[in-house]
Amino acid sequence: MDENELRRRVQEARADLAELIPDAGERARVDSQLGQALNEPPGNAKSALMAALRSHEAIRRWVAADTDRIFSLAGDVTSPVGVLWVCPKKNYTVMRETPPEEPLVCPKDGSVLERYDR
Ligand SMILES: [Zn+2]
Repeated sequence: MDENELRRRVQEARADLAELIPDAGERARVDSQLGQALNEPPGNAKSALMAALRSHEAIRRWVAADTDRIFSLAGDVTSPVGVLWVCPKKNYTVMRETPPEEPLVCPKDGSVLERYDR
């Protein structure tokens, strides 16, 4: 995922911040962190933007909640954590640190999840 795309994600997260982080003090802290990342000079902002997207639990959850987002961020945000398994219908994803003993099944439609390799 390139820097422009990351920048857009951070802007989206920032726009949703009131919903994502109810606590005003915490929200202000995260908001300034996101703002700082967005102010990094283009071409050099990627790591700051990545860090911003990982800066708060609620934002990590927001990133993970959307299959498209996790698809495009999988290699960067989640690779140290484990292997991503996705529903072939793309409505569910789950992260596993160890290979499952039995096939993983989508709780929404019962499809067998597929291992996602970038
Ligand atoms: Zn599914």
